[in-house]
Amino acid sequence: MVALEISSETRALLANVRDWAIGEVRPLGRESDDTCDFPAGYQEVISRAPVKHCPLDFRYTGPGHTQDPDVLRNLDGGGAVLGLLVMEEMCYGDGWGWQALPGNNLGERAVRLLGTQEQIEKWADGVLRGDYRFTSICMTEEHCGSDLSQIKTTAVREGNQWVLNGQKRFISLGSTSDYLVVFAQTQPGHGLRGIRAFIVERQDAGLSVTKTAEDKMGMRWYPQATLEFNDIVLDDDRRLPSEDFGQIMSILNGTRPFCAAWGIGTARASLDYAVDWVAQNETSYSARRRERISEDVAQMRYHLDAARRLVLRAGWRHDQGEADPTYAASAKGYALPVIQAVTFRAMQMMGPEGSSKEHLVEKWHRDAKFLDIVEGTGQLHRIAVARAYIGKSAA
Ligand SMILES: Cc1cc2nc3c(=O)[nH]c(=O)nc-3n(C[C@H](O)[C@H](O)[C@H](O)COP(=O)(O)OP(=O)(O)OC[C@H]3O[C@@H](n4cnc5c(N)ncnc54)[C@H](O)[C@@H]3O)c2cc1C
Repeated sequence: MVALEISSETRALLANVRDWAIGEVRPLGRESDDTCDFPAGYQEVISRAPVKHCPLDFRYTGPGHTQDPDVLRNLDGGGAVLGLLVMEEMCYGDGWGWQALPGNNLGERAVRLLGTQEQIEKWADGVLRGDYRFTSICMTEEHCGSDLSQIKTTAVREGNQWVLNGQKRFISLGSTSDYLVVFAQTQPGHGLRGIRAFIVERQDAGLSVTKTAEDKMGMRWYPQATLEFNDIVLDDDRRLPSEDFGQIMSILNGTRPFCAAWGIGTARASLDYAVDWVAQNETSYSARRRERISEDVAQMRYHLDAARRLVLRAGWRHDQGEADPTYAASAKGYALPVIQAVTFRAMQMMGPEGSSKEHLVEKWHRDAKFLDIVEGTGQLHRIAVARAYIGKSAA
């Protein structure tokens, strides 16, 4: 059965999240952009968040806002779909809010998918217990990001231990996270077959931060570090045992739709803001200009709705068991061009005002660009979708 309606319990939760996001997160959006950090006092804002866990983690944790079994039963599965809906509302305020919640990064997710039961209990459940606040995932290097087979970081076995050497770039929260899941080549020349993941703790000897943050165009509150690993010695229980590349990539199949949900929240915020602004200023507009804006607003709404359905379909499939790579790629590959076009047009609708720092629309447009890059570029997702339908000849 196809159900497009959400429950009243979910609607109530989303309304609370939206109020919090607009009332508490959005007013600090400009500060987070200017200072390249979470805003001062962000922890108080987070302590008042209507959900206690990061939406990325709802499949494992639920939202944590109530113990009432009747409410929990009616929360639209309580997993990925609910997380995606909450993510969109949080980002309707501004993107920094959800990222300040614990468990916002992929290191923990990598442990859940690639680790043993003991590793999951120690490292992944440790985030839920509060033993660790932030984690990082380290794939990208100076010369490669999308193509993991090209990484040069190595892990060499010495008895019961591994020695890790190399560098990583663009690692989110890489200078502060409590632990990092680092992808390294264990059999040089064997491409993806030799790639394994290792857990590195912040205090491990040989880990150094050579750059704490990139000075980048958008998503400026969220730092990406450059790291070096010099002869880091790790016991074998720091190696995540999975050798299945499909499983490695399934980390991102689960999270890519969240990038799209984030962007849809941002694009909706831009569009609503611009529409309100135009409504207050349109007396000076020609009939032709108003007509053009109306037409564009309708088109943007259609496309955002279509994108949201792809996102929720990917979440729904994930809630049934496995994240589907093609559904995840469709969601991110289709939604991000829409999101970028909407945030761009919202700025344009406001004329020169749209580029002023008086308004957040210019910031949201810059943030949206980065969502197209993180977790694989849109181009690569569209190639993945084409390959699913017409095979390798697609690219
Ligand atoms: C804000 C931010 C946060 C990030 N956080 C992390 C993190 O926490 N951990 C981490 O490991 N990385 C992180 N990254 C890096 C990010 O994951 C990579 O930048 C991304 O995967 C793209 O890889 P790349 O930069 O090597 O680009 P490339 O893969 O080199 O792509 C460059 C261009 O070439 C195109 N292209 C590439 N291959 C093909 C192909 N086969 N066919 C056609 N076109 C192709 C791409 O679409 C793109 O337009 C982050 C990046 C940003 C911007």
